[in-house]
Amino acid sequence: MVKKLTEILLTILILGSHANSQTHRTDYKGKIIDMHVHLFVEEGDKLSAARNNTISDIMAVMPNNGIEKATIITIAQKGNMADTRMRNDSIIATARRHPSMIPVCSVHPMDGVDALTEMQRVHELGVQIIKLHPNSQRFDVSAPEVDAIAKKAGELKMILLFDSYSPTDAGEIGKLVILAATNPAARFILAHTGLVNFPQLLMIEGLKKYPWFQNNIWFDVSAIAPILGDSPFREQLVWTIRKIGVGQFMFGSDFPLFDPAESIKGVHDMGFTLEEEKKIFYTNACRLLGIKP
Ligand SMILES: [Zn+2]
Repeated sequence: MVKKLTEILLTILILGSHANSQTHRTDYKGKIIDMHVHLFVEEGDKLSAARNNTISDIMAVMPNNGIEKATIITIAQKGNMADTRMRNDSIIATARRHPSMIPVCSVHPMDGVDALTEMQRVHELGVQIIKLHPNSQRFDVSAPEVDAIAKKAGELKMILLFDSYSPTDAGEIGKLVILAATNPAARFILAHTGLVNFPQLLMIEGLKKYPWFQNNIWFDVSAIAPILGDSPFREQLVWTIRKIGVGQFMFGSDFPLFDPAESIKGVHDMGFTLEEEKKIFYTNACRLLGIKP
């Protein structure tokens, strides 16, 4: 009886350690592109109590974590175009000084024509990505001004990086997906993969069946990976990501709110294969941004 029990226990131990070592063996150790980093440009940009986010703070955490390139993001305020231009110029100048940085500029949709003119201006300066944050910039994604931004992004072949978690607008993910589907020439990155609302993204699985759908929606797994990567939601999250297509998902740390190491661990915890991790950490971003891997 005791022998039998020992055997069972041993079997469980062996199976357990086997499963564990398998997860560890598949961890990707190569180059990383971080698609979600907030740069301190001016007062009010210090997002975290735990760490600062000047360019030197950002560059200090990159080598240890294998991060080869990182986006630097700013967020425009409404009704202050001088400030918006100053922010965008600061992002562009920093990216020119540090070639490992990818500039992400911003406009406020409710600035109307001025916002479109600013998109044109930064596009001509080589910027590919515009950040929009419905929650902190306080706009509704279904507003016509937002559609005008998406039309402009399509015309300029730009990418719109949208925060995709609203604590108050339960329909926001639907609005974002419709915005992307009706603006097929623009490309979209939904930051945080919807966070706790991620199952709603499965509507994309339905859209993929239509011939007109351009598969122009990408995601970064910032915040969602460290928060849900090792949670009871993990299986559902990984299943959802695979259903939509691992090729659309990219790593993001959301520095300084999260330390890159904990965001990287969050992705490892999700249990993707080595091939899938390589796509998420590196090659998907290369494909989206036209970087030679
Ligand atoms: Zn963020």
